[in-house]
Amino acid sequence: MPLLVMKFGGTSVATLDRIRRAAKRVGREVANGYDVIVIVSAMAGKTNELVGWVEETSPLFDAREYDAVVSSGENVTAGLMALTLQEMNIPARSWQGWQVPLKTSSAHASARIEEIPTDNMNAKFAEGMKVGVVAGFQGISEEGRITTLGRGGSDTTAVAFAAAFGAERCDIYTDVDGVYTTDPRISDKARKLDKIAFEEMLELASLGAKVLQTRSVELAMRYKVPLRVLSSFEEYDPNAGTLVCDEEEIMESNVVSGVAYSRDEAKVTLVSVADRPGVAAAIFGTLSEGGVNVDMIIQNISEEGRTDMTFSCPTNQVARADRAVQEARENGLINYHDIVVDNEVCKVSVVGIGMRSHTGVAAKMFDALSDEGINIKVITTSEIKISVLIDRKYLELAVQALHDTFELEKTA
Ligand code: ADP
Ligand code: ASP
Ligand code: MG
Repeated sequence: MPLLVMKFGGTSVATLDRIRRAAKRVGREVANGYDVIVIVSAMAGKTNELVGWVEETSPLFDAREYDAVVSSGENVTAGLMALTLQEMNIPARSWQGWQVPLKTSSAHASARIEEIPTDNMNAKFAEGMKVGVVAGFQGISEEGRITTLGRGGSDTTAVAFAAAFGAERCDIYTDVDGVYTTDPRISDKARKLDKIAFEEMLELASLGAKVLQTRSVELAMRYKVPLRVLSSFEEYDPNAGTLVCDEEEIMESNVVSGVAYSRDEAKVTLVSVADRPGVAAAIFGTLSEGGVNVDMIIQNISEEGRTDMTFSCPTNQVARADRAVQEARENGLINYHDIVVDNEVCKVSVVGIGMRSHTGVAAKMFDALSDEGINIKVITTSEIKISVLIDRKYLELAVQALHDTFELEKTA
């Protein structure tokens, strides 16, 4: 039997009515002759609520218990989806991560998928099951503990199942009808893309476009999983949505194909650290051990053997960063005079594979921001992206200005 993976995000399973709607789409594919693996998220808002409960109970929580709590939202929707399908006379059952078993690393709250054995579920397909409904986002570690894959992790569950079972395609159903040139919630000029290259989608995702979890794009790229993003609210159309595919499949593209943003960033400066070999290694080693995901880094000009070291990280990791460097200072591992935190910044990035062959993109980007009076605090670049850290109050303005400057509302 040909097999499809269909993933429904939180808004697509937010109510019993929506679960029924999603189940109807699954039913259509079953009628088309497919066996289907359905991956479900928790109902919209549920995971946030669970995370809130954990943080209120224990601010610097034990990540194993965090996972035990936050994975539970998906269990509910998996069971409800299976029941809904059964009511439609479609042979279906639910699978929690440990039942598959979806094996992961032990990095709680951001575990990586290590293996998905297919025998259990294939045995059920052979017995007549038409739909296996899997609770997304969760797995089991070697120690036998429940793990989660990081926020947005159901996308990754979906792509990993598609790869493991050799699915014909992985369809990600969400609340927008595809991948846009920028977040359609920020700009009404955002344009839906029919196709986007894996590399570009990977950058957009890792720079904040949460329509797909970064790791899901990595897996799709590595295992050549045809990946499609589409709306669960629109009428059925076999050509709907955005196909994430190889660069070679895209005939024309703009130099810049998208603008991404990450709203909740912080800029942290360690004032007056010694400017000598080994200091950066000690500071960033300390932060990494403290579980801080450092993003951008700048080291200022040195004066009299001392310098300032600035980095950015998500705002919710500032407390961890602060604790890590303080402890390291107390233990004599690093030395600084002061720590200054700016919690009111965001990161805006432009992405495009066309940047490999075109120069001048950075200058054009900086001009556009300066025309709006937006000051740039930190810059980083790579082959196909340029990112800037700016004041958060300018986020929408910056996204709009860049979308206009690079004429993203027009097709190439
Ligand atoms: P789900 O719950 O279905 O997983 P998410 O909220 O995780 O949905 O992701 C979908 C959201 O991603 C959209 O509602 C949209 O606001 C946001 N988004 C950000 N950047 C983009 C983009 N470039 N294209 C489409 N959606 C985007
Ligand atoms: N429910 C989880 C989250 O909100 C996983 C997902 O939806 O992909 O992050
Ligand atoms: Mg998501």
